[in-house]
Amino acid sequence: MTINSFDAAHLWHPYTSALHPLPTYMVKRAEGVYIELEEGKRLIDGMSSWWAAIHGYNHPVLNEAASRQLKEMSHVMFGGLTHRPAIELGELLLSIVPDNMQHIFYCDSGSVSVEVAIKMALQYHYSQGNRTRDNLLTIRRGYHGDTWNAMSVCDPVTGMHSIFGGTLPKRYFIDTPACRYSDEWNEHCTDEIAEAMERLHTSLAAVILEPVVQGAGGMYFYHPQFLQTVRRLCDRYGVLLIFDEIATGFGRTGKLFAWEHAGVKPDIMCIGKAITGGYMTLAATLATHDVATALSEGEPGVFMHGPTFMGNPLACAVAVASTRLLLSVNWQKRVTEIEQQLKRELAPAAALPQVAEVRVLGAIGVIEMKQPVNMAVIQRQFVEQGVWVRPFGKLVYVMPPYIITPQQLSQLTAALLAVVEKQPL
Ligand SMILES: *Cc1c(COP(=O)(O)O)cnc(C)c1O
Repeated sequence: MTINSFDAAHLWHPYTSALHPLPTYMVKRAEGVYIELEEGKRLIDGMSSWWAAIHGYNHPVLNEAASRQLKEMSHVMFGGLTHRPAIELGELLLSIVPDNMQHIFYCDSGSVSVEVAIKMALQYHYSQGNRTRDNLLTIRRGYHGDTWNAMSVCDPVTGMHSIFGGTLPKRYFIDTPACRYSDEWNEHCTDEIAEAMERLHTSLAAVILEPVVQGAGGMYFYHPQFLQTVRRLCDRYGVLLIFDEIATGFGRTGKLFAWEHAGVKPDIMCIGKAITGGYMTLAATLATHDVATALSEGEPGVFMHGPTFMGNPLACAVAVASTRLLLSVNWQKRVTEIEQQLKRELAPAAALPQVAEVRVLGAIGVIEMKQPVNMAVIQRQFVEQGVWVRPFGKLVYVMPPYIITPQQLSQLTAALLAVVEKQPL
């Protein structure tokens, strides 16, 4: 059995059949913006390994941080022990998130950080003697992860809620705001949420949203002013506001975090993905002092969660190095340049008969097709063109590492156009 056929026979890959999987490409190594395949082909990375590898691969600064920490310890439990990497990362994070975020809960992955956020929100009301506020409100086309409660607030259709019948908690959904990022603001874009919150608030613990940019659920950019109204409604009705910034964090949308587009601060915030620059899994749930106080003073007086690998020192050390590196380079200028180049070079796609719409925000470029793409075919076409792009459904999109050069980005966008043009009508 070759290693590739072992993979196809025994290794589950995301969102594909175990018995008849989509093809996989064997990676030998990756460096900078390039993913190098076993057969020798080098691909320009358009995905940052799902939003994470913002500095590209095999970065000397991050490598050094990992090997330095490895010589001290790769892990110790966080119960009863603490360490410099966790503390340094905490100090760094508090200096870049909204100033009302004061308490940090380290988690192993984005989905876990969403579970933690939801548990915090429910326990916040419980500990104040309010037992009816146990549900959540969100907007359609969202994505918050694949664990149980995270999945319950993903878009019901793309999240395939129907598979799980009655066992998946039933959440309240309203439509995604019709006002797009670049549209003029229209007050009516908050009519539905205002009505829903008036009707439902006594059973709501929190509203959970991806601020401004909806990622894997639809790659949709809505108007920041929507968040200002949601904040006011949450305050009026005593409902917590959770921002899931797992995809949007660390500069991707042109702001360090997407809440800055609206100037609206959440009560609880989830971050992950790019936190370690794509080196290993780490996430965090951040909360206000008010939330932490309610969880500490009411019953049971502690927050009931504690992952085995909480605050993993190796991941924290790399996260410190990655975040410092981001802040030390002129990331905002770079992301703005990528945005302008994506706008310029993807614009011609809008005229293609296969394409419904082109949208760009920050270092994110989206081509929405009229028909869902054939994954196996389009993936091979991208590889033939020397780029790594992984579409889903009707969405062909890129969010490249920030270190991509203008020439490399032009190669990526040229490949996008060439491949999109080849798709059947
Ligand atoms: C990826 C993602 C998650 C889940 O993170 P994992 O690390 O894959 O568990 C949650 N929310 C958003 C917005 C994401 O993009």
